[in-house]
Amino acid sequence: MNVAIDRAVTDTVQSRRFDAAAPEDILRWGLDTFAPRIALSASFGSPEGMVLLDMMHKLAPERARVFTIDTGRLHQETYDLMDRVRTRYDIQVEVFFPRPEAVQTMVREHGLNLFYDSTDLRKKCCGVRKVEPLARALDGLEAWIAGLRPEQSVTRADVRAVEIDEVHGGRIKLNPLVTWTREQVLAYVERFHVPINRLHDQGYPSVGCVPCTRSIQPGEDERAGRWWWENEDQRECGIHVGYEEKGSGI
Ligand code: SF4
Repeated sequence: MNVAIDRAVTDTVQSRRFDAAAPEDILRWGLDTFAPRIALSASFGSPEGMVLLDMMHKLAPERARVFTIDTGRLHQETYDLMDRVRTRYDIQVEVFFPRPEAVQTMVREHGLNLFYDSTDLRKKCCGVRKVEPLARALDGLEAWIAGLRPEQSVTRADVRAVEIDEVHGGRIKLNPLVTWTREQVLAYVERFHVPINRLHDQGYPSVGCVPCTRSIQPGEDERAGRWWWENEDQRECGIHVGYEEKGSGI
């Protein structure tokens, strides 16, 4: 179901006034405009989400909502980071899980490692374990925040700072790090001692589910270790989609 977005917000998106804005300014506008119906989507598998969480916490700790999706196939290092974040920032992480009956049916029909059999089955698994829980996480929100950056992969080339996310009910989606490089993200992590996933130090710039993530080689793009057996223009899970077809932002 589509959410009703205020005309002034639509005008702001269309004006593209945040295209070159500082991440903190984009976050401040998002929190001022939508809180408490705005939350950060963090995978705990990339430094970008942790940088945004740190920024939000500095701007308005009482309004810093964060949700994540536990697919049931995550690395122990990812769970460890969730707990470190809870302690460091004294926040609740809103964790959403796949529906047990949907996982059970899928596994009975296609096995536990269905993602290696075909792209369709990989997307089915992502649909059950990620996309459906995301819909529940977004329920009640008018806006959400993600750490997408165009240089991460070809599937993210058209990401904009503030977008109308037609794929997810016309909600507003903020990508405050859209103008940042990987180096800027890591410099922020170092400067403010932001906790990040320990697997980043082992050649995993982007950490997803255990069976679908591997370390990358020098020169490969940041998401080359995700679903590495597929064509690179297919490598999204269904959470951040729409950029390929329509350029996403207004
Ligand atoms: Fe399933 Fe792999 Fe997608 Fe995780 S990343 S939900 S294991 S297909």
